[in-house]
Amino acid sequence: MHHIEQVYINGEFVTPHGTERFDLYNPATARVIGQVRLADAVDGERAIAAARAAFPAWSKTTKQMRIAALQRMQAAVAARHDDLLEAVVEEYGAPASRSAWMASYPAEVIAQAIEALEAFDFTTVAGAARVEMTPLGVAGLITPWNSDAGFICGKLAAALAAGCTAVIKPSEMSALQTQIVTEALHAADLPPGVFNIVTGRGDTVGETISRHPHVAKISFTGSTRTGKAILRNAAENFTRVTLELGGKSPTLILDDADIKQAIPLAVQAGLMNSGQACVAGTRILVPQSRKAEFEQALALAVAAVVSGDPRDAKTVVGPMVSERQWQRVQGYIQKGLAEGARLLAGGVGRPEGTRDGWFVRPTLFTDVHNQMAIARDEIFGPVLCVIAYRDDAEAIAIANDTDYGLSALVLGGDSGRARRVAQQIQAGRVLVNTLTHEPKAPFGGFKHSGVGREMGAWGISAFMEPKSILS
Ligand code: NAD
Repeated sequence: MHHIEQVYINGEFVTPHGTERFDLYNPATARVIGQVRLADAVDGERAIAAARAAFPAWSKTTKQMRIAALQRMQAAVAARHDDLLEAVVEEYGAPASRSAWMASYPAEVIAQAIEALEAFDFTTVAGAARVEMTPLGVAGLITPWNSDAGFICGKLAAALAAGCTAVIKPSEMSALQTQIVTEALHAADLPPGVFNIVTGRGDTVGETISRHPHVAKISFTGSTRTGKAILRNAAENFTRVTLELGGKSPTLILDDADIKQAIPLAVQAGLMNSGQACVAGTRILVPQSRKAEFEQALALAVAAVVSGDPRDAKTVVGPMVSERQWQRVQGYIQKGLAEGARLLAGGVGRPEGTRDGWFVRPTLFTDVHNQMAIARDEIFGPVLCVIAYRDDAEAIAIANDTDYGLSALVLGGDSGRARRVAQQIQAGRVLVNTLTHEPKAPFGGFKHSGVGREMGAWGISAFMEPKSILS
């Protein structure tokens, strides 16, 4: 059993004022594996005060000093790779395909921030003005459970690179990952108060941070619903926000696509991170003229996906993170059937051979139209929809007919044509015949998928305000 009893404020592990204990589960067994003592609003206030006290000195550090600090953080987080790997499997059920990335990404994202900082111009000239990028102040960083360690490191590295200090409120469901990252960051020996980590509930610590007049910036990754609440709270003090929210991303398979190349990419895009990914391509748009052919190939591919024990190397889809998430996925599969969609693979219940854990059957529906709930709502599980279209114009219209706009994938034989389609998709990132990630490019969403961008120079600028000086 894991017992996490402390939070991290002003450079020290301290016992929180909050006394509530929150159970941690292994989703592959549905058993309690530990408890975390949660911070409360008082701890949130203390963490903000510590970050505020540390801001004047940190904001005056040179680029070289920040790079040196980030390098120590990167080395310290990389040294905990194996512990992180075990934690993401144990508390999150990440299968091998995902866990390897989740364990290495936290150190990688710090390295990417170092690269961006090295190239960052803090002063530029605009006409007669000298434009100085100035750090905003205390940043509140709020992360979700689906890649907790990576989001803590990515947001913190960008905030510190900009000269901000930080209060981090990680998801209460990822306390093992948070503990490992906190220990690593402590070992990196930054000045006290520069970063503070207070695991607690969203409606206590999260609200304290997003309403606080001494917090100048919120960088949040999580659901669109919580993002709206944060935006409302932030309005009170004009707190700057970056919001990375949900998605219902389309995969457009064009009529000249090579079926052998398209199907594995479409299935991988849809089921990544066991379907619990903001960028998951859960709406698969196929040409009416080749519908039967694509349905058959997609059905075979989804039915062949192994869902089960995350420690088994064959597993592609691990358990859902919580019982609530399992129920949600079951509910949407039932809803899809009730709406008249036709099941091509999967369905309700657990996959064969699994028992207690929150395992689900990778599910594929066809005869879906874009107004059905399974085509509109972010399910956050391995439930994919096939939607037929008549021509490219209709495919683009369906792809854009969504509240979201985080990511999209276009698959086609003629890459020039596929790129022209990509240009017409309203999403922060459109991939053409690839699933490769580019950490130098801005990442973020259109519409209800968010506000602002992370990564690269965009990620650092998000923690700064331009100031024009004319003399
Ligand atoms: P969530 O919104 O429930 O919680 C995210 C974080 O916000 C948690 O730390 C939570 O405690 C906190 N929170 C909850 N209520 C709050 C409030 N009122 N004020 C302040 N903080 C509050 O999201 P989740 O279930 O943890 O994560 C899944 C969601 O995250 C999905 O919608 C997914 O698409 C999204 N997500 C987006 C991205 C992206 O980059 N766009 C990446 C990963 C996940």
